[in-house]
Amino acid sequence: MRAVLGLLKRMTLATVSLLSAQDGWWMNEPVRWVQTNLREVDAAMDTTRLANQLAGMRANVVLMGMGGICAYYPTKVDFHYPSPHLPPGKDMFGDILREAHARKIRVVGRYDFSKTPKPVYDAHPEWFFRKADGSPVVYNGLYSTCINGPYYRVQAMKILAEGLSRYDVDGLFFNMFGNQSNDYSGNYVGLCHCDNCRSKYRGRHGRDIPEKADDDYRAFLLSSSREVSEAIGKLIREKRPQAGYFNYMQDYTDGIMSESNTAVRRALPLWPLTASDHVNRARNSEPGKMAIDLNMQFVDFWWRFATVPRHEIATRAWQHLANGGALTFEVNGTLDLQDRQALEAAKPIFRFAADNERYYVRQQSAARVLLLGNPAQRASDPTSYRGVFRLLTEDHVPFAVSDNMKWLGNREFDLVIATDWAPAQLRQYVENGGRVLLINPRPPEFPAAKVIRTDADVKGYIRVRSHAMFPSLTGADLLMLNGPFTQLEGDGSQSLSLVPPSMIGPPEKIHIDMKDTSIPGIVTTQIGKGAITWIPWDLGALYYRHSLPSHAGLFHDVFHRLGSPRQLKTDAHPLVQITLMRQGRRKLVHLVNHSGHSQTGYFPPVAMHNIGIELAGDFTRARSVRTPGELKLTKRGGSTAFTVRTLSDYELIVIE
Ligand SMILES: [Zn+2]
Repeated sequence: MRAVLGLLKRMTLATVSLLSAQDGWWMNEPVRWVQTNLREVDAAMDTTRLANQLAGMRANVVLMGMGGICAYYPTKVDFHYPSPHLPPGKDMFGDILREAHARKIRVVGRYDFSKTPKPVYDAHPEWFFRKADGSPVVYNGLYSTCINGPYYRVQAMKILAEGLSRYDVDGLFFNMFGNQSNDYSGNYVGLCHCDNCRSKYRGRHGRDIPEKADDDYRAFLLSSSREVSEAIGKLIREKRPQAGYFNYMQDYTDGIMSESNTAVRRALPLWPLTASDHVNRARNSEPGKMAIDLNMQFVDFWWRFATVPRHEIATRAWQHLANGGALTFEVNGTLDLQDRQALEAAKPIFRFAADNERYYVRQQSAARVLLLGNPAQRASDPTSYRGVFRLLTEDHVPFAVSDNMKWLGNREFDLVIATDWAPAQLRQYVENGGRVLLINPRPPEFPAAKVIRTDADVKGYIRVRSHAMFPSLTGADLLMLNGPFTQLEGDGSQSLSLVPPSMIGPPEKIHIDMKDTSIPGIVTTQIGKGAITWIPWDLGALYYRHSLPSHAGLFHDVFHRLGSPRQLKTDAHPLVQITLMRQGRRKLVHLVNHSGHSQTGYFPPVAMHNIGIELAGDFTRARSVRTPGELKLTKRGGSTAFTVRTLSDYELIVIE
């Protein structure tokens, strides 16, 4: 008996240690992450000063240059060179590691193996990226390496092994993974045609590397990057099992990294919910990993020293906290900046998060509505997805985003909303009693209604046939329809129906030939114990582009009719973003005030007062954290109501 108990105990301990290896500090501690993209001249910096600055803003993680393009310590590995600015006898990385650890700040070492100085190229040209004409890619004197060459596969591992052996780092980060086709200036350099890539690609696809990246080539490059990512991960686990592993890939790593950034050539409008989008999606697609969405302080690569508006920095930071991600801030160089506005915006938020850090750890989404995302579709056209993201946000529906189906069988939702992607697995979910709302002209990957045809561009209307069914639309009988429309079998004459294009001019002729049809603008199909409701036109993209209240009203009414119990009711302004998180037995309601955003401007948010919130569930205590105070609770048949007296930029309500 005792032996059995002993065995059980050992098994439990083994399980615990296994879990803790996976669940590192990045999951179990609040993360306030400052990333310094150090320059080679910074190798001579005053490390005590930087450590004091970090401690002063109460950062608890710093990401620092360690090696790769140049080393910030006296490296002894071949083809790895200390920064020419590293003073003789000085070990900058070792110094900052010691000083940071003394202040309880964790250190993540940054490597960039994508480029090296010329002497490496001269010695081993076969390690490098080759353009189609055979020439190397040279940028500011640095030569691009190839992800499939021995530099990445062998030499980088030696360099990394040295760093891991020398330093008790808390994590490693790798920049610019995998043969970028454009340099920092935006010049197209094309695809790598080195001997390694060519023979590997021929072995896999039976032909030469294409002139431009196609799906096969993208898959090839992704799998090449994955191989290196896996090898690096193994080396880190072996040498420093407690260290976290971070890069911009999702495989084999401990965090999902992204950037909230701006770029001058990016099409407007701005996407002010970027940070929420990134963090919500990362935390709910890969719940075992931390979301680290870097809050980039600069406008674009050409102006690394000019910062974006301070309230843009602030709104991203609040969104990080509100969605359960790491709080982050990124600078180029040290914290001694020539434009200090972004840093000054970040500092008080870091201090606030530190003062209240018990709330900003182990948060999980409590949302019971899921928005499915599709990375490939989002990359080419994010408008359908973003439109629905905004509709849910403005309607104060707590929602989680997932780019995959890993939640199936693991997490319950009242409603799943699909915009860009409705995978076949959803059918099983519906059959078992799930509810799906599909908002897209593209048919799902399972039969949901009989498709007659899809018209690519319909400039018509949707007729509201029942105002009782859609009470938000009492002021409108017609809704704008622009874009693809899928004709489904069914009768829309009692709900929503298609009005095909008709004459638009001259005014004497406007729509006098308009004809109604019974072609449905919405169809609900029972499948097994559940149902799928399909809006076969692009309501999300239309809302993203035009923000018509009719489209928002329709979404609101359909959502209501689907019978999802609302987790949260509120009279908050649509520009108040509300997220609902859980932390153990607690509920956390975060409010982010977006009223300061207009077009490309971010101004101080307009303070709002007396926001009523009613939360499903029975609670006994609620308190506000940003404006400290206890909130009076009113019980209303299964839910608990309270009033947020003042919302400045952000508020956190802790409910128990
Ligand atoms: Zn290559």
